[in-house]
Amino acid sequence: MNNIYDNIEKFINVLEHSEKIVIAGHTSPDGDAICASISLAMAIKKMNKKPIVLLESYPDTYEYIAGKDLVYTDDYNKIEADLFISVDCGDKTRLGEAEKVLSKIDNTVNIDHHISNNNFAKLNIVNDKASSTSEVIFEILNMMGFIDKEIATALYTGIVFDTSGFKHSSTGKRTHQIAGELIDMGVDSSYIHTRLLYTHSLENSKVLACAIQNIEIYGNKAITFVTKEEIFEKCNANYDALDGIVGYILDIKDVEVAVFLYEKVDGLIKASFRALKANVNEIAKSFGGGGHILASGATLNMSMEEAKSKILEAIKDI
Ligand code: 5GP
Ligand code: MN
Repeated sequence: MNNIYDNIEKFINVLEHSEKIVIAGHTSPDGDAICASISLAMAIKKMNKKPIVLLESYPDTYEYIAGKDLVYTDDYNKIEADLFISVDCGDKTRLGEAEKVLSKIDNTVNIDHHISNNNFAKLNIVNDKASSTSEVIFEILNMMGFIDKEIATALYTGIVFDTSGFKHSSTGKRTHQIAGELIDMGVDSSYIHTRLLYTHSLENSKVLACAIQNIEIYGNKAITFVTKEEIFEKCNANYDALDGIVGYILDIKDVEVAVFLYEKVDGLIKASFRALKANVNEIAKSFGGGGHILASGATLNMSMEEAKSKILEAIKDI
C-alpha cells in the first residue's frame, strides 16, 4: 500500500490542473463503484471542472443517488479528456469498455481499496484497509471540503453497500466515524439501509429461492448457481436479482466458504467467492479474477458443470 495521504495532496494538485475529467467505475458496477464515481464527479463539478462518469447501466435501487446527469451515455470514441480517474478497480481490465479511454489519456489516477490492486495508474491512491472506495473518496473530499448532503448520501450508500451494513470485517472504527459525520450532514441512514439491504422484488426473491434449491454443501463449503433460464424465464427477473445472493449463502450456519455462479449473457460463468476466514482472493486469482481476501470474483470461460467441478477442487483444502 502506498502512502495514501501524500498521494491525496498530489491528487488534489492534479485535479486543479485538469479541466476535462473522466471518472470510471468497474464493469457490472456495484454500489461502491456507482457511489464512489458519482460522488467524486459531483465534487469535481463543484470545482467548476467538467467531469463525466463512465458506468455501465446499474440497478434502479440507486435511483435516489443524485448526479445521474453526469453519467456519459454517448460513444466512448468521442471522449477527449486530460485526466482519467479509475475508481474501485483493482486492475485496468476491470474497466471494461472504459479501458480504451484510459489508454488514450496520459494522466491517470487509480483510487481503490482492493488488496489485489496492481497500481496500474500514474498516481495510485490504494488503501486496502479501507472498507470501500467510497470511504477513500470521503477522505479525499473531506480534505478538499466539498461534501454536501447529496455527496454525503452517495458516500454513505457506497459504504453501506460494500460493508453489507457495517457487517464485514473491513468495517473499522474510522468507517463508523465517517458514517457519523455523513449522518451529521443530513444523510437518511434508515432509508438507505432499508432500500439497499432489505427491499426485494418478488422476482428477485424467486431467484434467491432457485439459488437455495441448487445448493450443494461439502463440510463448511457451500456452492450454488442459477442458470440464465432460471433468472429470465422461471423467475421473470434479470441480473439485478443476483446482488446479495452469495452473502446469503455465507450466512448459512456452519458455512465458512460460499461460492455463487451464474451464466452471463455471453455464456461465460461469473463466480463470486465469500469467506469468513479463508483467503478466497487467491482462489479468484487462480481463475484470473481478484478482489479482497474474504470477497472476490472471477469470470470463467467454460460450462457451468466444468466451473463447478474446477472450483470445488480449488477450494477443497482451504
Ligand atoms: P463480486 O463477487 O461481488 O462480483 O465481487 C467481489 C469483489 O471482487 C469485488 O470487490 C469486486 O470488485 C472483485 N471482483 C469481482 N470480479 C473480479 C474480477 O474478475 N477481477 C478482479 N480483479 N476483481 C474482481
Ligand atoms: Mn468496493
